[in-house]
Amino acid sequence: MVVAARLYVRISVGGFKGINADGQVDSHQQQSLLQSAARPINPASSRTRSHRLLGGGAFTAFQTSLKLRDRVWSDSAPATADVRRGWFWTVEHILLVMRVVVTGAAGFLGSHLTDRLLSEGHQVVGADNFSTGAPENLAHLANEPRFQFLEQDVCRPFDPGHVDYVFNFASPASPPEYLRLAIETLRVGSAGVENSLEIALRYRAGYLHASTSECYGEPLEHPQTEGYWGNVNPVGPRSVYDEAKRYAEALVMAYHRSRGVSTRMVRIFNTYGPRLQPNDGRVISNFMMQALKGEPLTIYGDGSQTRSFCYVDDLIDGILLMSRSNEHLPVNLGNPDEFTVLECAQAVLDVTGSQSVLRFLALPEDDPTRRCPDITKARTLLGWEPRTTLREGLMRSLDFFKSRVSLRSAALEIH
Ligand code: NAD
Ligand code: UDP
Repeated sequence: MVVAARLYVRISVGGFKGINADGQVDSHQQQSLLQSAARPINPASSRTRSHRLLGGGAFTAFQTSLKLRDRVWSDSAPATADVRRGWFWTVEHILLVMRVVVTGAAGFLGSHLTDRLLSEGHQVVGADNFSTGAPENLAHLANEPRFQFLEQDVCRPFDPGHVDYVFNFASPASPPEYLRLAIETLRVGSAGVENSLEIALRYRAGYLHASTSECYGEPLEHPQTEGYWGNVNPVGPRSVYDEAKRYAEALVMAYHRSRGVSTRMVRIFNTYGPRLQPNDGRVISNFMMQALKGEPLTIYGDGSQTRSFCYVDDLIDGILLMSRSNEHLPVNLGNPDEFTVLECAQAVLDVTGSQSVLRFLALPEDDPTRRCPDITKARTLLGWEPRTTLREGLMRSLDFFKSRVSLRSAALEIH
């Protein structure tokens, strides 16, 4: 097999601008980001861009990057890195540099994944229609030449140009949002996933799909292993999400088995951190915002239902490890520490120092009673497990939610 290998030198300019997720929205950056949607996407320009960087001024390090375009992160991809140190400029490592597409890039997880891929030296094309995501999540990348944004509904076929990897994260994820966007959720889980798989097929790219613990529904096995087939109400309100995600898993496996696409999927359990949309109704964002505003924390049901909360940085570690694996069947990624919703509320009150009271409301229909991942497969296969406790993760998220409370107060004052 002929391997098209390209060797080029790229200057690392010390990461990309304004990576702080907690920063305020810069309207100029936001404007530039939206304008970048109109920028032509030319995969051939990657080399030119690298060379342009070579002409730049001060820099911190050189990276020598070996690009194995047709074999990146495929089943036969080499996984070695040669590390050498020098005096003035450091050949940091031999790295596979890729052009990747991230669908759902303006969302919570998609934007964190985009940041991590860029920090590893890759080029990222982010595709999103802003249905539940926000331009603020990508505003810090407005002047990043290795990032291109495509305002795109992925339910319509699209061509981002040659890519080496597809990360498919587009889909509403919060229960109130997927109930509001019921048909759109079913479409993005079917047509959207198929369009992303077609891109991987066309360019012989690697593929990773963001699936969910919701595939287990109201689980009759606890904790949930990947071998458990689930207990989902196919006609209940949550079915628009659960069944779309189950169909998507079947579709991903069909493209792997029938079309030979090198696919992977992760079943993500509840994840939180900075950039979780403050108003999207998920439990951590609701509790943090309510606690910081001194409002009652809304407990659905009696609060005895359980969830397991994974901090976003841990999850992204797992996603990147999984993207380089040869496992095609689903792998659970989540934190196996299980909390009741009441315990979660107490943790938020402790971390925020809030005096908010609890307000008990009706439990939504088909709200799962218990959920906790068995992560034996991820531990064994990837050597991965979360490191961040719930309290640590909430502490790290505090500044972000505080900034959102301030933004909201400022907006209210203006009106
Ligand atoms: P999010 O709502 O913050 O991000 C989803 C992004 O997808 C948004 O930016 C949205 O605008 C975009 N999108 C939705 N429909 C689209 C369409 N038709 N075309 C283009 N873009 C579209 O949610 P998230 O938490 O970042 O979730 C990302 C992915 O991870 C989803 O697929 C979700 O199902 C999965 N997931 C997340 C969690 C979690 O706890 N965060 C848990 C399980 C699974
Ligand atoms: N929940 C709650 N109060 C809220 C939001 C959510 O008690 O303000 C509960 C919800 O009923 C569920 C759990 O918290 O049992 C997690 O909800 P979330 O919407 O974050 O995610 P889910 O796991 O249900 O998809």
